[in-house]
Amino acid sequence: MSLIVISFDGVKDTEFEKMAADAQSYPNIAAFMQSARYTGDVFTTFVSNTYPIHSCISTGRHPKEHGIVSNILGYADGAEIWAQEAKFITARTIFQAAAQKGLKIGTVAWPVTCGEKGIKWNLPEVHLLPGQNRIIEHMRHGSAIFQIRALLRHGKKMQGLKQPYLDDFFTSVMVDLLREKKPDLAMVHLLAYDDFCHNFGICDETDTARAALDHNLGRILAAAGDDATVIVFSDHGHLNVSENIDLAPIFGDILHEQCGGSAFFTRKVEIIEEYSWFGRLLTEEEMDVSGYAGRAAFGIGAARGFSFSDLPHRANHGYPRDYDEYRVFFAVKNAKRAPHRLPFEDIRNVTAIIDQELGLGMDL
Ligand SMILES: [Zn+2]
Repeated sequence: MSLIVISFDGVKDTEFEKMAADAQSYPNIAAFMQSARYTGDVFTTFVSNTYPIHSCISTGRHPKEHGIVSNILGYADGAEIWAQEAKFITARTIFQAAAQKGLKIGTVAWPVTCGEKGIKWNLPEVHLLPGQNRIIEHMRHGSAIFQIRALLRHGKKMQGLKQPYLDDFFTSVMVDLLREKKPDLAMVHLLAYDDFCHNFGICDETDTARAALDHNLGRILAAAGDDATVIVFSDHGHLNVSENIDLAPIFGDILHEQCGGSAFFTRKVEIIEEYSWFGRLLTEEEMDVSGYAGRAAFGIGAARGFSFSDLPHRANHGYPRDYDEYRVFFAVKNAKRAPHRLPFEDIRNVTAIIDQELGLGMDL
């Protein structure tokens, strides 16, 4: 019997609850919730961006300990170098622990799994640098035969990597994985909703992505069968943005990094509190847990309605995890072990459930 983990990228708890309450529009989410144990109002980790959080799920540790503090490592000729290689994770992963137990793992578009040896069937999320070839990079970073078969069977669905077609492709690969390989642990990352939020904000246009999430969940659950243990969770919420501020031309080398809802600086900025986009200073704990203490002198959270980026986001994430309307969720169906209160009230509970269900001994 499989443990299936599905990441609904960017879906805040209240958004998921709205979908679950609307069985007419979202029948699969509503049906799943009828038999799942749901926890909302969950704190994510900080910095609340996709790679630090998914690495938190993969390890049960905050970014300070797992080493993936940002989506990106830096820039090469102006192009982002994504922190996508598993070797950058500095804590023990569930993949390593499960492989040591002899369990068979399959992952589809899971962040920071490039080159992860513990995964038997791996189609990683790959971001290319200019001049790189997608097929070559996927072969280099993931499982060759598994990916070639996926591409031959379902490659046409991607439509140039656009969403929600890309999630349709990922779901098709996941369905084949469940039906044909029967993995002990299968994980998939669905990101159409996150993509739509960045482009349109949380609004009616985002309904296309909501419908895709529901449809894809239904396909995965049908392939999984009624007895499979299924965890659905979200990594971060989104907050609508009315103004994007690019801090780079304002601060030059005083800026260490801008991360959407937060930013880090190399040295003190005297009047930073007077800017309209200033939300609050990050606490010592936030600097520490995020892994930025020692890398940057201080950091700030953006004011409501602002994001720090050189891109025109209509909604964004990366905010401190205690911001209003910024909680996440997890929901579990068919957990084999009796639920018990975990020693932390945040998204690492997902790792703890995976640990319990598979008996991994992650020592969380
Ligand atoms: Zn995300």
